[in-house]
Amino acid sequence: MNFKDVYSAFAVSFEIFPPKTPDGEISLFDELTSLKRFNPAFISVTYGAGGSTRDKTFDLAVKIRERLSITPLIHFTCVGSGAPVIRQHLETAKQRGLTDILALRGDPPRDSVDFIPPPDGFSHANELVAFIRSIGGFSVAVAGYPEKHPQAASFDDDVEHLKMKIDAGAECILTQFFFRNEDYFRLVDALASKGIHVPVIPGMLPITSVSQIEKFADLSGAVIPPGLKERLLTSKTPDDTAAIGIEHCIRQCRDLKKNGVKGFHMYSLNKSKAVGEVLDSVL
Ligand SMILES: Cc1cc2nc3c(=O)[nH]c(=O)nc-3n(C[C@H](O)[C@H](O)[C@H](O)COP(=O)(O)OP(=O)(O)OC[C@H]3O[C@@H](n4cnc5c(N)ncnc54)[C@H](O)[C@@H]3O)c2cc1C
Repeated sequence: MNFKDVYSAFAVSFEIFPPKTPDGEISLFDELTSLKRFNPAFISVTYGAGGSTRDKTFDLAVKIRERLSITPLIHFTCVGSGAPVIRQHLETAKQRGLTDILALRGDPPRDSVDFIPPPDGFSHANELVAFIRSIGGFSVAVAGYPEKHPQAASFDDDVEHLKMKIDAGAECILTQFFFRNEDYFRLVDALASKGIHVPVIPGMLPITSVSQIEKFADLSGAVIPPGLKERLLTSKTPDDTAAIGIEHCIRQCRDLKKNGVKGFHMYSLNKSKAVGEVLDSVL
């Protein structure tokens, strides 16, 4: 995939994760079939912590291409594997026609705080990007963090590290979800001031339940604006909660589009309803 071409016109993409059961997969394909109406440029498939879903990620990506005729993009982390093993996995991906990659460092295993690379492994995603580039034959996107990565010492440090990923050969940035557009614009401006002009595609997530609020804040550190949080917490029914989250996401997307973003990367959580409603209103 040539990201420049993809984002020469406005493009949407969806992120999904490999379901745990065969029934989950059947229902996922129903949801994705419904999302086909948005003509997604690609569907990205997450990679379980430590590569725990590698086979499932690759299998699902191939099925997306074969059954839906949509380009799959695989997430790929360097947790727990040294360079020779990573090379093998990348060769397997290539043999299966999976040549579009979101290159990630990944998180440390649940029981450890620090990310400790294997002796012949990679410490940061920029090293993985350079490695993938040295193999050749892949197009590479990387992750960006509008509110900085939780482990980064400062926003400026994190932007510098993001620049290193682009300098290593990444062609596109997909962002962590965020709920305040000013955070996204600050990231784009900071990158532009360093001469980085690759597409920075905002990751959009409509909150649909109260239980997601703490979970997402924990996972990403994303701040939910107090007014929105209060409205979500005081909503009377699950439908009301979802309507509030979707309305906020629609407002975010309209503002982003008005301000020239090249696309949306929608965190679908394997469901079509919320992201579909957002896109139906915005596109
Ligand atoms: C769109 C998106 C999709 C994701 N999908 C997955 C997934 O499928 N599976 C999964 O396990 N995780 C996924 N993640 C989470 C991701 O793995 C974690 O956020 C992880 O902690 C960091 O990965 P990274 O690639 O951003 O790492 P890096 O870019 O390596 O950054 C990690 C930290 O190190 C710092 N840093 C980076 N480079 C350097 C350097 N050269 N020197 C010093 N410090 C540096 C950064 O500032 C940051 O604080 C996803 C995140 C996003 C935004």
